[in-house]
Amino acid sequence: MDNKEKFGHIHPLSRVASRISEIFSEMGFSLIDGPEIETEYYNFDALNVPKDHPARDMWDTFWLKRKDILETQNSKLLLRTHTSPVQIRYMENNRPPLRIISIGKTFRYEATDATHEAQFHQVEGLLVDKGMSLANLKYVIKEFFEKFFEEKVELRLRPSYFPFVEPGVEIDVSCFKCGGGKCAICKHTGWIEVMGAGMIHPDVLKNVGLNPEDWKGFAFGGGVDRLAMLKYGIDDVRLFYTGDLRLVNQFL
Ligand SMILES: [Zn+2]
Repeated sequence: MDNKEKFGHIHPLSRVASRISEIFSEMGFSLIDGPEIETEYYNFDALNVPKDHPARDMWDTFWLKRKDILETQNSKLLLRTHTSPVQIRYMENNRPPLRIISIGKTFRYEATDATHEAQFHQVEGLLVDKGMSLANLKYVIKEFFEKFFEEKVELRLRPSYFPFVEPGVEIDVSCFKCGGGKCAICKHTGWIEVMGAGMIHPDVLKNVGLNPEDWKGFAFGGGVDRLAMLKYGIDDVRLFYTGDLRLVNQFL
């Protein structure tokens, strides 16, 4: 009989989440948590997405019928569609300069396929200080990805729209695998889309009682599952959630 004790080990998603947290903490960011059941106010209104705003269609939402202690502002309950409410809660209770990240589960009411799950993990970052600009954002993100992929990367910022930032950008990194040459991971473009980001919208700062004339900041967010898929070359996100030991045991 085999007397060796069998030990469990860390799931690849948890491993990636702790690596992300480690890299940002080296840059002075604190890891902050928040509730997965949120109010409409924190998930949408405070982030400059009021009711009837067409941008609400960007997030297919699981609404909850249950009443809860959180429901204090005549605001309906939902499963958070992004980790951004954590930023609002933190900014309400802490004065700048601020430097936080949050990593956690988020939920979208959508069909699952190889690149979409109804539940996934997001990493979100926020920095508020005097005199911040997109250049600071670019520096932090580049540092992060070079440590995460363990390769030199270039960044490409493309204009984009998210209601809580102005201007908003999509961030691409040059392919860490082929160095911008062209391979299957970058779909033969040399670039990989990794995050949405931007300068915090003045209305979001006002919503938490900060004067946008005094304080500037940036925020960024991306999928932890997606980063794990890229790092480990996994092409179907559902594999992370099947409990199939043939996948998990590759990460001993
Ligand atoms: Zn490539």
